[in-house]
Parts: sequence; C-alpha cells; structure tokens
Amino acid sequence: MAKIKAIRGMNDILPEQSPVWQYLENTVKDVLSAYGYSEIRMPVVEQTNLFKRSIGEVTDIVEKEMYTFEDRNGDSLTLRPEGTASCVRAAEEHGLLFNQMQRFWYQGPMFRYERPQKGRYRQFHQIGVETFGMANSDIDAEVILLSARLWKRLGLLDSVTLQLNSLGSNEAREEYKAALVEYLLARKDQLDEDSQRRLDSNPLRILDSKDPNTQALLDSAPVLTNYLDDESRQHFTELTDMLDAAGIHYEINPRLVRGLDYYCKTVFEWVTDKLGAQGTVCAGGRYDGLVKQLGGRPTPAVGFAMGVERLILLLETLELIPEEVKQPFDLYLAAEHKGLQSKVVLFADQLRDQLSGLRVRIHCGGLKNISQKAQQSGAPIVLLLKETDNQQLCGTIWHQNEPEFDLQETQIKEKIQNIWQA
Ligand code: ATP
Ligand code: MG
Repeated sequence: MAKIKAIRGMNDILPEQSPVWQYLENTVKDVLSAYGYSEIRMPVVEQTNLFKRSIGEVTDIVEKEMYTFEDRNGDSLTLRPEGTASCVRAAEEHGLLFNQMQRFWYQGPMFRYERPQKGRYRQFHQIGVETFGMANSDIDAEVILLSARLWKRLGLLDSVTLQLNSLGSNEAREEYKAALVEYLLARKDQLDEDSQRRLDSNPLRILDSKDPNTQALLDSAPVLTNYLDDESRQHFTELTDMLDAAGIHYEINPRLVRGLDYYCKTVFEWVTDKLGAQGTVCAGGRYDGLVKQLGGRPTPAVGFAMGVERLILLLETLELIPEEVKQPFDLYLAAEHKGLQSKVVLFADQLRDQLSGLRVRIHCGGLKNISQKAQQSGAPIVLLLKETDNQQLCGTIWHQNEPEFDLQETQIKEKIQNIWQA
C-alpha cells in the first residue's frame, strides 16, 4: 500500500530543526516581556464569518486562500488564516477591550491555501502582537521599536528594512480610492488582468501589483500621501519623529498597502532582499475600525505579525544561528564496560539533581567502541564510567578533545560543574 504523506505545503518540523524554532521563539518572548506584553492563546478554528467580516470579502485571503469547511452541524468554520481577527474576537468576548489598554501577543499555525514555494506554505506560523485602547502614535512607535529590538537581538538589523506608510482615515482613503480609480479607469487596457479585476473590488491593492506595466502606470498616478487628513498626517509625523529620535531607519513607501481591509493610518513592513520574492518577514499597522466592525465599541488598535518560517530561513541563510543552539545536551554519559547500566542511570540523575539545568543524555545499548561513539555524540562533555576492583565508580571526562582519566566520583562532579559553569 502507498504510504500516507503530509499535506502539500504543511511541514513537519523535525527534531533537528526544532531547536532553531525554540531559539527564535525564546528570543521573541524575551523581547516581548521586556515591553510588558501578555500572551493570549486562541483556537485555530473560528466561524467563517469572523474572517469574512474582518479581513474583507474581496481580499485574496477570503476570496481564495481560506480552508473553509462545514462541521457535522452544518456550521461554516475556517482554519484561521491570521491571528488578528481571532484575537479581537477573544478579547471582546471576554470583556478585555472596553475602556482598557492591552498589550497581547500570540503564536501558532495559520492556514492559507496558497501555492507552496520557498517562504510560502499552507500551514505556516506567525508570532503576532496586538495592542488595544491606545490611539496615539507612541504605541505605533513602541511596536516598531519592539520589532527592531528583536532584529538586533537576532543579528538581523542590517538585513531588514522598515517600510512605512500612512493610509489615513477611512474618509481620506475613500477619497484617494476615487481619484486612483478615475486615473486607472482611463488607462484600464494597460493594466494587468488582476489589477483590472481589482479596479472594482479592491483598487488599493493595485498599488501592490508586481506587474511592471502596472507599476510604470502608477508612477504618475495620484499619491496617497497627498490625500491624508490632518489628523493622520500629524499622527504619522509624530511617529516618524519618534523613530528618528530612536535611530530607527525607515523608508516611506506611499504605495505600501496591506492585503487586509482593516488597516488605517500607520502601516509597515519589515522586508529583506535575501529571500527572493517572499521578502516580507513582518507586517502590521493600525486598525482602529476593526473592533467596532466586529460588534464592539470603537477601540483603537495597533499590531503586527511576523512569519516564523521566513525569519528562520533568513537566520539560516545568513548563518546567524548560534552553534550551541543545535546541541540538545551538554553531557553524554556511558559505561565503559558491562554491568553498569543501573549505575549510569542513577549517576545521571544525581548529576541532574546537583547541577540544575545540566542536560544529560545517557548511552543505552551496546558498548562496542564506546569511547569513540561517545565522543561522536557531539556533546561538549563526555563522561565514561567504570568500576574499580573494589567497586568504586571512577570515570574519564573528555572535554575539547582532552581526556582526564581515573577521576573519582567527587572529582567527576566538581570537574563537570567547572566546565559547565565556565
Ligand atoms: P505576502 O505578501 O508575502 O503574501 P501577506 O501580506 O499575505 O504576505 P500577512 O497576512 O501580513 O502577509 O502576514 C504577516 C507575515 O506572515 C508575512 O509578512 C509573512 O512573513 C508571513 N506569511 C504570510 N503568508 C505566509 C505563507 N503562506 N507562508 C509563510 N509565511 C507567510
Ligand atoms: Mg499573502
């Protein structure tokens, strides 16, 4: 019978790879806690309407990328394609939004029916940040500074650039949309097919088109920046002033729009040129209208989500993963001769008791060429135990290719402690 395989675009993360994920996740958690953010965990399945109403009916995600199915009740459910909608739903449902200021983060798998390729999968992972109840530009600055601090911690700051734009108020955007449509309608036959379709449904997304002819047309099209309302303009200036003061470099990209309908005012993306076409590693912005749109009271909000797979690809491409990250244990412990299995098991546990945090892996199975095998384990410390004629345990420690023979029990523990804590 043919073997069953994983679903296309949905990857296993193998044991060899998961330390890299943990490294990234732990670094992110560290940075998030430095800013006082709290974790929220939402289900991976929601009512389909949640995404239709938040992301927008005529976006790529809702039109063609969602995993939607009927459950046994006939209810339409969807595997979440992103986290913001679920986060707003959960926060509103539990009364966490009205009259409160909140800083949340979440992580987990997202699902989109896309064409799988490097950096684009059908199950992928995001770590996201959502803040609520703060209307001023200081929180926009904070989430950007937070992401910049993360890049710095990961050694990525020189490999990513911040693209920034303001979409303005809903009214300003509608006015701009009208001007853009008028300009493009007059040149409709020069637009690519997708963009022609979007003229009716989602004209702002045309700004995002990768088609060179369309891009050339856009060079002389009306510019969103010129349509901004005063409040949005001031909000944006305050934000860029704060970024300047913090020494964060950015490029203002008046054509930066996001593929989801709920954004207003600030939008941003961190992009890299090191991953080919899938260059956006983190994207977000302000979505002051979404809570109300989903039935809550008007609540200002800002957030972003980063693509974990893309960040890992980037870290790997740039060889930025610290060597020790991939090593799952510090000490490899084996018996040098038969009859010592239970002593090895117990000795390993004593070490774990005494040196909290020390990661010990014991050798189980055959002892042929054990010294060689143990050293090939890759562990920074190797310990081989044997028993003397008067049944005392003694051992050899290998560290940086140097052996020390015939150490007594207390010496062994001391030595390991010294090496490990150095
Ligand atoms: P793209 O333009 O690359 O399709 P997007 O605008 O659809 O991205 P968002 O919905 O803003 O992406 O998601 C935030 C981040 O999640 C992206 O910047 C990217 O890093 C990551 N991401 C989005 N879709 C995928 C996917 N199918 N596979 C892997 N990562 C993804
Ligand atoms: Mg997309």
